[in-house]
Amino acid sequence: VINIIYYHFMTNKSNYEYLLSDLTKLKGVGAKTTNLLKKKKINNIFDLLWKLPKSYTDRSRSTKIKDLKIGENQTITIIPQKYSFPRVRNLPNKVSCADETGEIDCIFFNSYEGYVRKILPLKKEITISGKIGFFRNKYQLTNPKYISEDSSLIKQKHNTYSLTDGISEKIYNKIINQIIKNLPTLNEWHSDNILNKFGKIKWNDAIVELHKPENIGNYKKNFYQRLAFDEIFSTFLVNSEIRKKIKKIKKKSKLVDKAKQDKILNKLEFTLTKDQFKTLEEINNDLSSTNKMFRLLQGDVGSGKTIVSLLAAYNTINSGFQVAFMAPTEILARQHFNFAKKLFSNQINIELISGKSEYKNKKEILKKLADNQIDIIFGTHAIFQKKVFFKNLGLIIIDEQHKFGVNQRKRLSDKGGKDCDVLLMTATPIPRTLTMTLYGDMDLSIIREKPKSRKPIKTYSKLESKIDDVIKFIKKEIKSGNQIFWVCPLIEESKKLDHSSAVKKFEYLNKIFPNQVSLLHGKTDLEDKEVILDNFLKKKFQILVSTTIIEVGIDFPNANVIIIENANKFGLSQLHQLRGRVGRGDKDSTCILMFKSNLSENAKKRINILKESNDGFYISEEDMKIRGFGDILGFKQSGIKNFKLADPIHNSDLFLLAEKEIRRIEMDNDNISKFKPLIKLYDRADIINDIA
Ligand code: ADP
Ligand code: MG
Repeated sequence: VINIIYYHFMTNKSNYEYLLSDLTKLKGVGAKTTNLLKKKKINNIFDLLWKLPKSYTDRSRSTKIKDLKIGENQTITIIPQKYSFPRVRNLPNKVSCADETGEIDCIFFNSYEGYVRKILPLKKEITISGKIGFFRNKYQLTNPKYISEDSSLIKQKHNTYSLTDGISEKIYNKIINQIIKNLPTLNEWHSDNILNKFGKIKWNDAIVELHKPENIGNYKKNFYQRLAFDEIFSTFLVNSEIRKKIKKIKKKSKLVDKAKQDKILNKLEFTLTKDQFKTLEEINNDLSSTNKMFRLLQGDVGSGKTIVSLLAAYNTINSGFQVAFMAPTEILARQHFNFAKKLFSNQINIELISGKSEYKNKKEILKKLADNQIDIIFGTHAIFQKKVFFKNLGLIIIDEQHKFGVNQRKRLSDKGGKDCDVLLMTATPIPRTLTMTLYGDMDLSIIREKPKSRKPIKTYSKLESKIDDVIKFIKKEIKSGNQIFWVCPLIEESKKLDHSSAVKKFEYLNKIFPNQVSLLHGKTDLEDKEVILDNFLKKKFQILVSTTIIEVGIDFPNANVIIIENANKFGLSQLHQLRGRVGRGDKDSTCILMFKSNLSENAKKRINILKESNDGFYISEEDMKIRGFGDILGFKQSGIKNFKLADPIHNSDLFLLAEKEIRRIEMDNDNISKFKPLIKLYDRADIINDIA
């Protein structure tokens, strides 16, 4: 019996384990090739499945010499007639060849005589291919690409690949054919309903089709769609499992005191928008449930997320818990801190921990946190350092951390302990199809509607040579009591250069507007920074020249003009973020995008999207359509999964289908063990170790 079980286990396992084996398991692949492939992030057999042919040479249709076309890749069957091995360095070896219709010379540079003799033996019929040249009245073929006496191979179509240094097409063809031949038959993981959408094609068959040269570019065919779907689905499934796992964690529920919440609401100078109310309700429901919250509050820049999160914090505190509020920069942490102090006056204990806090002060804060004498603490990532202990942490709020990847978030959710809810916030709207890809591990609350008082920001583009017009405009704005942000270009991510260009601009503007300009850059001392921003808020000067540090979150109601230099260095979503620094008050506001040279058609198209819309969600969708999704939002750094086949633009239907199927699986509480091979093959992140 044991033997049978063991046998069963082995075969089952070997099913997909073969695909996860090391490359050296392949015949004809040694350490050298393995290392070359590893450099290309091809680490196992499965990875090689996505090395797809770029094109192919059809060797079945051999051409006769008299019909050769110069400059084209062609295949001919010839008989080598005569060698010529010059004994002079740098002169190539030559083999004169012929068929019944004419003659051609095969030329070999840097080759050994033995090699040439071996692959082009005299008087034997050989098939070769390559780009046909013409030299001294004769056809010529330099370094023929593929040479074989084996006529069965000649009949085959031969795939061409984009080549990794040191690995020839011949090797790629050989090893990929080998894998296709040994492909294990995997048990189907999809439901019939899903399979029917792809003509019931099985994973193995789809892989075989994928590698057929005549299928290159057949993105609409069932095999391609199914494989793209597998890719999307596995990502979503892993995310869904993480979410389920977190939500299963039982916690002490919080008691949301609506009367106290209303008192704060009545104190506000504005009423919440419908979406703010709705999202607050969603968060409150999570707080009062017995399941741990892991929620993302997504809302365009200026949509008013802070107040929603602070109300959630207030409710948590009133239920007897502490709250940690983390911001990406000290400046933003301080702004939130000040807002909270104003909002809650003396009702709760509020603290700010900053890198600049004095040691004694810091020690005092840490002590108070551990003694439960602080209700809410604001700070940067410093508030999650090892030596920081909370007596009774009930909620972690994290602002503007869209660049956190799934792994980072998961670690974070573990941090506060089981009774601690987690709320993340982001002002980076993303295209609908990417939501599950990027945020599928969290529950989502979205604020779409902006406060009614907001006016659209007028957006213009301007050539740098027309800077005088811009100066004229600024003079007028300053006269009417307005303030200006001047964002300096990002030059090749070099802090030094960013710095010097900001300094130069400051000097230039300071000559025109003496005593009305201040400068903020990456090297500005933290204390100075706070003073400068505070002075800007108090209208002590009118123009703030800065690098992009003003990008995230900070709120300046009096500033209503933003100039962005070298605007083509930014993505649309980033420009939209920057632009969102203005237009928060009730005045008209303006954004001027400056460019070094005339815009290309594509750049114009992109900028027009910004000019026409103030809706971050729409902008991200359009930007993705033009630029592709890879780097629209700087998600590349966030460890976002790189899809090999799936594309959020062309396969948006598949993304939505995958989302629907995930929801169904969640609803029906399907056993996901049948997806194990899928997850193991497609998502080898550490995170799945606890799942599959
Ligand atoms: P973001 O969503 O970008 O973080 P903030 O929370 O910083 O936006 O809000 C931007 C500004 O809008 C703040 O000054 C805030 O007080 C104000 N605000 C928030 N909600 C409303 C509202 N419903 N009506 C008017 N102003 C609001
Ligand atoms: Mg914010």
